[in-house]
Amino acid sequence: MGSERDTPLDPDAEVIIPGSGLSMVDARLSLADADHRGTITVVSRNGLLPKGHRELAPTSMDAADVPFGSSLPYFLRWFHDLADDIERDGGDWRSLVDGLRPYNQRIWQSWSTHTRRQFLRHLRPRWNIHRHRLPPELHERMDCAVARGRVQLVAGEFLDLERHGSGVRAVRPRGTRERRIMDVARVYDCGGVSVDVSASSNPVVRELVANGSARPDVLHIGLDVDEHCAVVDADGKPSRHLLAVGPLTRGRFFEIEAVPDIRVQCAGIAKQILAQH
Ligand SMILES: Cc1cc2nc3c(=O)[nH]c(=O)nc-3n(C[C@H](O)[C@H](O)[C@H](O)COP(=O)(O)OP(=O)(O)OC[C@H]3O[C@@H](n4cnc5c(N)ncnc54)[C@H](O)[C@@H]3O)c2cc1C
Repeated sequence: MGSERDTPLDPDAEVIIPGSGLSMVDARLSLADADHRGTITVVSRNGLLPKGHRELAPTSMDAADVPFGSSLPYFLRWFHDLADDIERDGGDWRSLVDGLRPYNQRIWQSWSTHTRRQFLRHLRPRWNIHRHRLPPELHERMDCAVARGRVQLVAGEFLDLERHGSGVRAVRPRGTRERRIMDVARVYDCGGVSVDVSASSNPVVRELVANGSARPDVLHIGLDVDEHCAVVDADGKPSRHLLAVGPLTRGRFFEIEAVPDIRVQCAGIAKQILAQH
């Protein structure tokens, strides 16, 4: 966040951050490290902060234990029951989340498009805060900042952005019709990577979609790729030369944000290329 081209920020100025995930935490820490003292309003639809990490052994799980291809309500019940059992035995839900990790791509791919869509609509923010956790000391710093009112969490929708003097931003708190106008010095966009690839801030991705060499995946959360990561063009044909890795391929793989997963994906692609030549 921030750049050398930024105008200086008054240390007492109020700022707003759309997004309450890891990028927001990064932005907030950079501001705190630069001795910023103004109130930071964090707006996200759910107003949820990432959970704190703990070093724990993942729950040992066999593929046969995982209900691949089930409905979302069934899967949720299974997950909650298991988490309850683990906690009742003195364990921690984090072990379950981490134990499931090797199966997450298979779980995602076993779901119908309808189930994936339901998951994205209703569960994704909740999943993200449990899956992508903060180091304990950062989590404590964030909690402390919220408790002291330095960070104000708003569950709501970031509506609009207008220039008015130092700036006016409009927010609608969840469950209300109210339109709250906030006068802030700066907005740090931490709302995540643009999911609509045709409007991507990356000119390469945008151009590939515009000229038909690529297309969004069916859920519009990345680029359409085949099982070998070949980019699928506007006519549905996988490219022989263009491959995509990482979060851009989340429509097919979903659990493809963290570097260890991307590393495995890249190694697979490297093998594939070597085999072709
Ligand atoms: C705040 C935050 C914390 C995270 N923490 C962790 C963590 O602790 N552990 C973990 O495993 N993962 C973490 N992640 C996730 C991980 O960093 C990302 O998923 C991963 O970096 C994505 O890799 P990528 O190669 O797809 O994209 P990036 O890492 O974003 O790399 C893209 C690169 O391409 C370059 N580029 C883009 N467009 C062009 C262009 N047109 N011309 C030239 N170059 C270009 C960019 O400058 C950049 O260097 C975190 C993510 C965030 C946002």
